[in-house]
Amino acid sequence: MDNFSEKIKTLVQQMTLAEKAGFCSGLDMWHTKPVERLEILSMMMTDGPHGLRKQKAGANPLEVGDSVQAVCFPTASALAASFDRELLFRLGETLGNECQAEDVAILLGPGVNIKRSPLCGRNFEYLSEDPYLAGELAAAYIRGLQSRGVGASLKHFAANNQETRRMTSNSAVDERTLHEIYLAGFEFAIKGGCPKSVMCSYNKINGVYAAENRELLTGILREQWGFEGFVVTDWGAVRDWVKGIQAGLDLEMPGSGGANDQKIIAAVQSGALDEALVDKTVMRILRAFFDYTKKRDTGAVFNRNKDHETAVAIAAECAVLLKNEGDALPLKKDANIAFIGEFAQKPRFQGGGSSFINAAKITGALDTLQGKANVTFCRGYDSRSSDTDASLIDEAVKAAMNADIAVIFAGLPDAYESEGFDRKHIDLPENQNALISAVCAAQRNTVVVLHNGAPVAMPWIHEARAVLEMYLGGEGVGEAAVSLLYGEVNPSGRLAETFPLKLSDNPSYLNFPGYRDETVYRESVYVGYRYYDTKEMPVLFPFGHGLGYTTFKYSAISIDKAKMQDTETCAVTAAIKNTSSRAGKEVVQLYVRSHGKGIGRPARELKGFVKISLEPGEETTVSFTLDKRAFAYYEEAVHGWMVESGEFTVELGASSRDIRLAAAISVESTQEIPVVFTPYSPIGDIRATGKGKAALGPMMAKMSEQMGGTGSVNLGESSPEMLAAIMNEMPLAALAGFGSMSDEQLNGLLAALNG
Ligand code: BGC
Repeated sequence: MDNFSEKIKTLVQQMTLAEKAGFCSGLDMWHTKPVERLEILSMMMTDGPHGLRKQKAGANPLEVGDSVQAVCFPTASALAASFDRELLFRLGETLGNECQAEDVAILLGPGVNIKRSPLCGRNFEYLSEDPYLAGELAAAYIRGLQSRGVGASLKHFAANNQETRRMTSNSAVDERTLHEIYLAGFEFAIKGGCPKSVMCSYNKINGVYAAENRELLTGILREQWGFEGFVVTDWGAVRDWVKGIQAGLDLEMPGSGGANDQKIIAAVQSGALDEALVDKTVMRILRAFFDYTKKRDTGAVFNRNKDHETAVAIAAECAVLLKNEGDALPLKKDANIAFIGEFAQKPRFQGGGSSFINAAKITGALDTLQGKANVTFCRGYDSRSSDTDASLIDEAVKAAMNADIAVIFAGLPDAYESEGFDRKHIDLPENQNALISAVCAAQRNTVVVLHNGAPVAMPWIHEARAVLEMYLGGEGVGEAAVSLLYGEVNPSGRLAETFPLKLSDNPSYLNFPGYRDETVYRESVYVGYRYYDTKEMPVLFPFGHGLGYTTFKYSAISIDKAKMQDTETCAVTAAIKNTSSRAGKEVVQLYVRSHGKGIGRPARELKGFVKISLEPGEETTVSFTLDKRAFAYYEEAVHGWMVESGEFTVELGASSRDIRLAAAISVESTQEIPVVFTPYSPIGDIRATGKGKAALGPMMAKMSEQMGGTGSVNLGESSPEMLAAIMNEMPLAALAGFGSMSDEQLNGLLAALNG
């Protein structure tokens, strides 16, 4: 045991039961209880995730905006579009410094819940529809934040993918889907980032509240994944606190005013709760907080101006150029531009709810450009209404016709997406769609800049020349948009989620948000591009898509082996060249395609990505290492990851629909699924094993002869292959039924097969 652990253990031994019980429950909305007698300080936690929402002492907890002025960075859906681990690390580090300056020990974030439906009101706070991408980026953010001694609280664990009835709904998810899609993001973030804390969600998972779910909080989180931090409840998620502690919860937030402390004391005294569990809980919280105390940097300064510049730079790396027909962008310096739309003046840059930042310095695109270019402005629409105002549209059309190019700033108003409720559709307000169509009809050179936290339908997509998705880009979004529009920064974001053509194309459409409190995840592992690509469906913009002002050539893919066992790894390399005259960044995406015939697998799955920066004409080699997990699926029969032996294709591409290179590899599994054969096991399953093939071979040959010839079963014109195929689908008992095997022979065979 290290000194640190010794110290914590000694402290816990000195604490009374009442002190320990009290320590597991918050002092107020944001602080833990101090134990002054033992010099244990009260520590502060704050939202998160894309800036600090540190409420002032005495602030009304329900007033989300009543917090210290801070810097609002792009929200998670934008951050994920950067596909950039280093950028997420840098953001984490910057936030860590801000936390040190404000004496915040734990920042509540990041959120890695999967975007099951584009309707989830909180999608702007979540990273992706893909768990690998979400987990990798979250891990980088956590490493950055924790490098400054501040803890992350990874949230919301688990299967919390909607806001509708979020405190009571039950997510009914099968084991494979849970592990492959909904838990994997947490797993990658925990293994790669070691967050000091995890926040459990409000909802139930397969009938048990997350806050009381021992299988999740202890079985999976701690025993399977090795998580060593503390689990905090989402605010107010506790039902039965004693059950929570037994399941693996550590800290109740906010506090219960002492009521739950008494329940713990009573449960320990009656013998219903083991005091050793309470000790462990206290130790886990203390460890995280002492770690903060040890790394406390009282000299840290929250330089809001400097961090604002970081927010601008990050926003520019996150934007996705969705369309750029005829090189409409970048804009020419001397062109006459019409900026249209309220969001050009007052951008929508963040979402509502607990992540709301009291941002001090918000720059709109119009203000950024004023005096630097020939720009006119008109309002275009009223963002507080969806009704079309003909006079605003007329004014916009005139301005567009008098300019060389029109740039419309559109997007979702605040009332459309927020924590606490889900969207009902994916449309922009009617007045904005009408404006875009009218302006496009009058001015061929129309660019649309979007401010939204989640995908929107674009009925005018064929009318606009270019579309730049800024997402909710934080307080610097206006400056970032201008630098991208004018080509000072080359767009390099890629979609971390699919934009469907219409809502009803989404795989969860028929089951979102569920009926009453029951949400069944019937689409299984086919979430996002896993569904659209497997179904070969057209989409508006695919996962991984994004353009720039640069082009890249992919060549020379190679895998260092043609065959491997699942205990080995393989290395994939390829050459990427910047074929244009501008420096730019490319996101090389690696997908694995399984050709197995057994368990259904999505057409392709993301297993690697790298963002590279290349000068004009420069070429570089990208390399990836793939291990078992890259080829595996979650096998319920072994409650773990397994590879189905066979052929796989490794694909490198610029999106899930723009695969540039492919190479084959054969992977052999070293595991077998333990099976016990019965008289009702299909013959095909038995023949698939070595033993079964040998045992049934002669009998099958004999039967085939009988059936094909003068046998009792008339199969018409038949071939041995056809007979084998038919028999593969029959249970073993059918052989006995056809008189090919006595009961004794059948039992003998089963004993040999199962022996
Ligand atoms: C949210 C969390 C947040 C917490 C504290 C909850 O309602 O779900 O994400 O961290 O409040 O504000």
